Amino acid sequence: MRSRYTAYILENEPYLLTTWDPSTRPKKLSLDENPVKWLKLSVHSYSDVDEKSKTGEVKFSAQFLDKDHLCTMVETSRFVRHGALWYYLDGLNEINREKLARNGNCPCGSGKKFKRCCLIK
Ligand SMILES: [Zn+2]
Repeated sequence: MRSRYTAYILENEPYLLTTWDPSTRPKKLSLDENPVKWLKLSVHSYSDVDEKSKTGEVKFSAQFLDKDHLCTMVETSRFVRHGALWYYLDGLNEINREKLARNGNCPCGSGKKFKRCCLIK
């Protein structure tokens, strides 16, 4: 899961697709069409593995910047195990979007003004 988050940061689409279960995998991802800047991942909990369906759930939240909005996504992802490896199955998420002031402090923690730092124009 953390490796998939890293892959989102690096826009590593091949990795995201290979770690996606074939039953729900999209044909392609186009992360560069809507570039966002990922700020933070917090994993809240893992469920026990359901031995029958070989699935497990992870609850996490992730923060990212989408242009001038700070977005907080809370998601429950389902993963399925094939052999020793886990694959992303699907997820339910809610995204809270908060508009940021251009002259305010950048949420990345640099201490700079948002407009001089991470604001994606
Ligand atoms: Zn910044």
